[in-house]
Amino acid sequence: EAAKKSHDVVIIGGGPGGYVAAIKASQLGFDTACIEKRGALGGTCLNVGCIPSKSLLYNSGLYNRVKKEGAERGLDIPGEVKPNLGNIMKQKDKAVKQLTGGVEMLFKKYGVKYYKGNGSFIDEHTVKVDPIKGGEEAVLSAKNIIIATGSESTPFPGIKIDEERIVTSTGALALKEIPKTMTIIGAGIIGLEMGTVWNRLGSKVTILEFQKSIGGAGMDAEVSKNIQKILKKQGLNFKLGAKVTKGTRNGDTVKVEYEDGKSGKTESIDSDVLLVAVGRKPYTKGLNVEKLGLDFDKKGRVVIDSDYKTKVPHIFCIGDCTFGPMLAHKAEDEGIAAVEYMKSGFGHVNYDNIPSVMYTHPEVAWTGKTEEQLKEAGVEYKTGKFPFLANSRAKTVQDIDGFVKFIADAKTQRVLGVHIIGPNAGEMIAEANLAIEYGAFMRGHLQSLPCSSNAFRGLQGRCHDCLWQPNQFL
Ligand code: FAD
Repeated sequence: EAAKKSHDVVIIGGGPGGYVAAIKASQLGFDTACIEKRGALGGTCLNVGCIPSKSLLYNSGLYNRVKKEGAERGLDIPGEVKPNLGNIMKQKDKAVKQLTGGVEMLFKKYGVKYYKGNGSFIDEHTVKVDPIKGGEEAVLSAKNIIIATGSESTPFPGIKIDEERIVTSTGALALKEIPKTMTIIGAGIIGLEMGTVWNRLGSKVTILEFQKSIGGAGMDAEVSKNIQKILKKQGLNFKLGAKVTKGTRNGDTVKVEYEDGKSGKTESIDSDVLLVAVGRKPYTKGLNVEKLGLDFDKKGRVVIDSDYKTKVPHIFCIGDCTFGPMLAHKAEDEGIAAVEYMKSGFGHVNYDNIPSVMYTHPEVAWTGKTEEQLKEAGVEYKTGKFPFLANSRAKTVQDIDGFVKFIADAKTQRVLGVHIIGPNAGEMIAEANLAIEYGAFMRGHLQSLPCSSNAFRGLQGRCHDCLWQPNQFL
């Protein structure tokens, strides 16, 4: 007989959206439970996404730099520097274990009840837990329920994933040997990051992309062109406009057939490993949501209103399984906002200011609008750009590829977007987030202030010294 329990809030899914929502709910005084079927907390991000990929990117990057630039940077390296894949993977696994274990500790600390198993709806207020190893069977009733079940890799029609030779990002994060050759379908962020890892470790990597540019739809076109050149110099081979038609495994090789973007002819590539990285799709299998009659859009995302409420007002949905960019910090912020709505009726996520980072070297990071988005929306804008080539620190450390680009409204000068290719772009972008959040103006504007003061205050749009306001003379 399953144990019957009742909670104020039950959260299904223990990824960045779910676990952050659970901790916040508990902090706000709700009796909270979180159901996770993976056997570890942290979701895609901590187990098979952000964290393991960043570990492999960092360690492969270190190896690559020491090998390629060590001598030039004044290091005496006796013998050859070699990657030890077994140890690189161990290091990655250790990071994942520590971090997922850390979330479990936080659950204990904040009194979140953790159910190990698959959660599915019995009715609008009741969720059943089918336990996995170490879990308990339970029937939970709840005043509020949050669906935070995340996403999964989008399959490629006709290509069968075996996570050994034909892999998704999950398999690409756990290869047992360094492939001599790797083909990747999809030049989005995951494809480019994983391509970078294996290229650095010695694989010959070819990326097939259906679009004419890399980086996915969210990347500014100028940034995309520039980073493509840089990655090409590093050894990634791009075939853009390539339409993949087939991918089959024959023993230890995988053959991919595609229509070449330029000639229109059918070409093929054989490689040791094929990575299918054509995007991710919302995951709501096994939840039994059909029973509740929730709405889904064409992409399979759970339809919610601006308060994260589904059609059933006490059932919320956040993170990868609903609208918006599939990013961990976006899921986390939504987790907090959804719980705040429950508590007080107010919560907030600024969708115009969500940073994205691609952890290649140099890193690529951006927030706010791209030039293309502004053109499409008919907003007049101006740009300001500075290359790292002309930056003393970048020159000193011989890391000169890339630039910082600001985009501001042509009339009000308010910063609308910031796009960076460069060393540590992923950290620098946080300043741009602050600038946009507090309504900062592009610096060029200061030169046209009526006073010569630099004491310009973005937040309220006034100069500290002369109290001049930007709109005053427009
Ligand atoms: P998820 O993390 O997918 O978590 C959902 C959880 O719900 C899963 O653990 C699943 O097991 C569980 N679940 C599903 N159904 C049920 C059920 N019925 N019962 C119980 N449990 C269930 N984002 C970034 O911001 N930065 C990065 O650098 C980055 N790198 C990435 C690299 C890779 C290779 C991948 C694949 C993704 C990366 N992402 C990155 C994206 C990020 O991982 C996701 O946006 C984030 O994990 C979404 O969080 P979530 O909580 O919505 O869903």
